[in-house]
Amino acid sequence: RRSCAVTLHQIGPPDPARLSKHEGQHKYDHGHALILCGPPGHGGAARLAARAALRVGAGLVTLACPAAAIPENAARLDAVMLRAVDGGADLAQMLTDRRLNALCLGPGLGLGPVQAHLVAVALAAGRAVVVDADALTLIARSPDLAAGLHPGCILTPHTAEFARLFPDLAGAVGLAARADACRIAAGRARATVLLKGAETIVAGPDGSVAVHRATGARAAPWLATAGAGDVLAGLIAGLLARGFAPAEAAGTAVWLHVEAARVTGPGLIAEDLSEALPAVLRALL
Ligand code: AMP
Ligand code: MG
Repeated sequence: RRSCAVTLHQIGPPDPARLSKHEGQHKYDHGHALILCGPPGHGGAARLAARAALRVGAGLVTLACPAAAIPENAARLDAVMLRAVDGGADLAQMLTDRRLNALCLGPGLGLGPVQAHLVAVALAAGRAVVVDADALTLIARSPDLAAGLHPGCILTPHTAEFARLFPDLAGAVGLAARADACRIAAGRARATVLLKGAETIVAGPDGSVAVHRATGARAAPWLATAGAGDVLAGLIAGLLARGFAPAEAAGTAVWLHVEAARVTGPGLIAEDLSEALPAVLRALL
């Protein structure tokens, strides 16, 4: 019996040429990521994502939040731009700017009807988009929202979020079974699905499957901490802004995320991941 694991493409270090920046380029050459953020008091996850998107090299990052949340976000973010978005019309207006080329939906977003409408508007814009956290929960609750998914989307569920989205595919145990479930899910969603865990699977809507194992000599158990997934979502959004295709953005982000965790090691909190990224990039570039 041939083990399925040997046939899975292993995600390795990214190509430095894809991540480096060149003399003479300016910020608009590196894309503009838009991170959606929820109401006052709930923005921590979106701020973690925004910082990660900047650290991985997006030229510009904007956090879109309710007007009431601008003061608290302004007090905590400097290089990230802030825009007031109180409903779908505000977001649609913002998205007429074609330079906003990647979106991050979910971390710290909230689960109300306003947020569901924002997700619908964001998906309809047809941009590259990371769908994480609360956006995954909203999509699991609404077939109409799920119908808006498209090949530019990357869904980033952990095991429980995956089970809510794809109940009949849940419960897979072991790498081969999880990879198979993820591949089927990606085909069904017509999007890239990144199933998180110590072994992370990235499956494309074309049937491609790749795996990253943070186990053995490359273990990163300190990633099992609040906010780690929000940082991953921001890394993917930043790479999408830089023009990476969905599967490439997903694989590169997973690799960088684990390396950043290994730089800090024991005692890691999610805030450390973005701060460790320059050392990871320097070693690579
Ligand atoms: P979330 O549950 O959304 O905060 O995401 C957690 C992040 O940490 C994901 O990127 C997981 O792949 C990663 N992670 C969680 N636990 C582990 C672990 N034991 N080893 C390696 N990575 C992990
Ligand atoms: Mg999460």
